[in-house]
Amino acid sequence: MKELSVFARCRGIPAREVARREGLVLRPRGSRHWALCPLHGEKTPSLMFDEQGRWHCFGCGRGGDAVALLSALRGISPLEAARQLAGEGPQHKADPRPAGRAQALKLKARADAWYAARWEAACREKLEAEALQEALTPGTPAFWQALARQSLAETRLDALMALGPRDRVHAALTQETPSTS
Ligand SMILES: [Zn+2]
Repeated sequence: MKELSVFARCRGIPAREVARREGLVLRPRGSRHWALCPLHGEKTPSLMFDEQGRWHCFGCGRGGDAVALLSALRGISPLEAARQLAGEGPQHKADPRPAGRAQALKLKARADAWYAARWEAACREKLEAEALQEALTPGTPAFWQALARQSLAETRLDALMALGPRDRVHAALTQETPSTS
């Protein structure tokens, strides 16, 4: 559980901040920043930093949050990277113990609620589509439509299942309707 709180303390740190500290040269383009990727060696920048504080390299396909970046750049484990980040980050200086923890719990609750709502909606859609198929004559256009609805719902369920805890928080923050914070 101690490890979790270390990762939680790193959540507010944007990956581009880590990139700067590690000496990468960032160039703004639109709302994003770009840099030469030191992980795979290149001449044109394909390492992208987005507004949400995450990074993705279109050259080598690696990406993630600030912890993943520090881990990749220094060749250390994510846990070690998180410890270093939590120790160095601006959040730490402000002593985040009570506020940071409450904030992390609040974020997790939002992510869980977001996930549960999405999951429920996709399940409902899948069940409805299956019931429709039972009632319809196989081979009719309406039947195929119901089948398509079912497979779409299953794709959504698969995508939801693939989300890790941090992805859920990220998705909840970017996809839920704002103003609940
Ligand atoms: Zn790369």
